[in-house]
Amino acid sequence: MSAGVVIIGAGQAGGRAALTLREKGYAGPVTLIGDEPVPPYERPPLSKDMLIDPETRPTWLVPAEAWAAQDIRLMTGRAAMAVDRAARQVRLDDGSLLDYDRLIFATGSRPRRLPFRVSRLADLRTLGDVESLAARAVGARSVLVIGGGVIGLEVAATLVQKGLEVTVVEIGSRLLGRNFPAPVAAALARRHAAEGVTLLTGRRIRDLADTAAGIRAVLSDGQVITADFAVAGIGVVPETGLAQAAGLVVDDGIVVDQDMRTADPAVFAIGDVAAQPGPDGRSLRCETWQNANITAERAVAAILGSPLPAPETPWFWTDQYDLNVQLAGVTGPEADTARIVEQRAGAGRLFLVLDGDRLIGAAGINAGRDMAACRRLITAGIHLPPGMTASDSFDAKAARGLLSP
Ligand code: FAD
Ligand code: NDP
Repeated sequence: MSAGVVIIGAGQAGGRAALTLREKGYAGPVTLIGDEPVPPYERPPLSKDMLIDPETRPTWLVPAEAWAAQDIRLMTGRAAMAVDRAARQVRLDDGSLLDYDRLIFATGSRPRRLPFRVSRLADLRTLGDVESLAARAVGARSVLVIGGGVIGLEVAATLVQKGLEVTVVEIGSRLLGRNFPAPVAAALARRHAAEGVTLLTGRRIRDLADTAAGIRAVLSDGQVITADFAVAGIGVVPETGLAQAAGLVVDDGIVVDQDMRTADPAVFAIGDVAAQPGPDGRSLRCETWQNANITAERAVAAILGSPLPAPETPWFWTDQYDLNVQLAGVTGPEADTARIVEQRAGAGRLFLVLDGDRLIGAAGINAGRDMAACRRLITAGIHLPPGMTASDSFDAKAARGLLSP
C-alpha cells in the first residue's frame, strides 16, 4: 500500500491541501502535521474581528470532527524535525518516523523580529498571539505599533477604536509601500490621521526598552515615544529551515515550479513558504490567503495528475475601520510607474492600474462588487475602451459587457 501524502504544516495551505486531496477523490493515506495545539484555522480574522471582540470564536477551516470523518490523520501539537528524502521519511519531535510517497511543505512563515529583548512587545501570527494581545489592550491607554503594513494598520485601527492612543512607526517613506499603490495608501493614511492615529514614516526604532510603566522607544531621528506596550508587524520570514536541511533549493522560499513541485519530484511546497516562478522568470513568494488556497489546489492537481486549475489574478484584502480594501494584480511598487485612474464606484472608490489601455491592477475601497469585475478584466487581459478610463465613475455594466461571451 502507498505511504500516501504527508503534509508538514497544518495552516491555511496545508489544511486546504489535505481537504482538496479528499475532494478530488484521493483514497490513499493523508497525514497533516501541525505544531500548533489546535486544528487548522483562518488567520485573517485574528487582526480583524477577533482583535475587536476577543469573544469571537476562531474560524476553523472545517469543524474539528470533519478531519477524522474525511479520513485525514491530523496530528496537532507535533513538529516535524527532519526529512530524509532518500528514505522518504519524516521524523517527528517524539522521534517517530512517518513514511511518505509524496511530501508537501506547508510550513508558512513567522513574524520578523526586532533585535530587542522587551517583555511588552507583541506580534500577531497565531491564535495564542491574538489572545495575549487582546489581554494587553485591556486597561492600556497607549500602544506603539511598529510597522505600517497591513497588520500594523489593522491593529492600529482596532486599538484606536477601543480608545487607545496609537502611534505607528514605519521605516519606509510611506505606509503600505510593499503592496499598495501610493494613492490608496494615502487615502488610508488620511483616515488613520482623522481617527487620531499618529503616523511617523521614514523612521526606524533605534532602541526599545521596558520601563516600570510600559515601554520606551527611541527613534532614528531621536524622538522618544513611551507607551503601555508595543506591537510589531514588520513582515514575515518563510519557514524554510527543514527544507534547507533536507537539501532542497531555497531562495528566500522553497523553490518550486508551476506545479508547486521542488527539484525532488516527490516533494512539493505551497503557501507562504513556496517561491514560485514569477512573470519575469525570477521566483517569488506570495503571502496571502488566496495564494495558500490556490497553491494547495495546484500541488494536489500535480500529485493526482489532473489538469492544473485555471490561473487566477492574485488578490488580497484588508479591513480597517468601516473600509474594506481589496487589491488585485499589479499593486506594489511597479504600480507607482503605471498610470493610475481613480473613479467613483457606487459608494466607494476604485483605483485602476493601467498599462496603456490594459487593466493590470486594481484597488477598491468599499467597492467589492466592482473589484470582482476588475479581477476578471485583469485575468482576461482585456483592452479597455478609452471612454471607460476617461470617466470619473466606473461603468460596471460596460465592464461586465466586456466580459460576457
Ligand atoms: P500558515 O498559515 O502560517 O501555516 C503554517 C503552519 O505550519 C503553522 O501553523 C506553523 O506553526 C506550522 N509549521 C511550521 N513548521 C512546522 C513544522 N516543522 N512542523 C509542524 N508544523 C509546522 N491574507 C489575506 O489575503 N488577507 C488578509 O486579510 C490576511 N490577514 C492576515 C492577518 C494575520 C494576523 C495574519 C498573520 C495573516 C494574514 N493574512 C491575510 C495572510 C494569510 O493568513 C497567510 O498568507 C496564510 O495563512 C498562509 O498560509 P500557510 O499555510 O502558507 O502558512
Ligand atoms: P508587511 O510586509 O505587509 O508590512 C510590514 C511593514 O513594516 C512594511 O511596510 C515594512 O517596511 C515595515 N518595517 C519593516 N521593518 C521595520 C522596522 N524595523 N520598523 C518599522 N517598520 C518596519 O507585513 P505585516 O507584518 O503587515 O503582515 C504580515 C503578513 O500578513 C504578511 O505575510 C502579509 O503579506 C500578510 N497579509 C496580511 C494581510 C492583512 O492583514 N490584511 C493581507 C494580506 C497579507 P519595508 O517594506 O520598507 O520593509
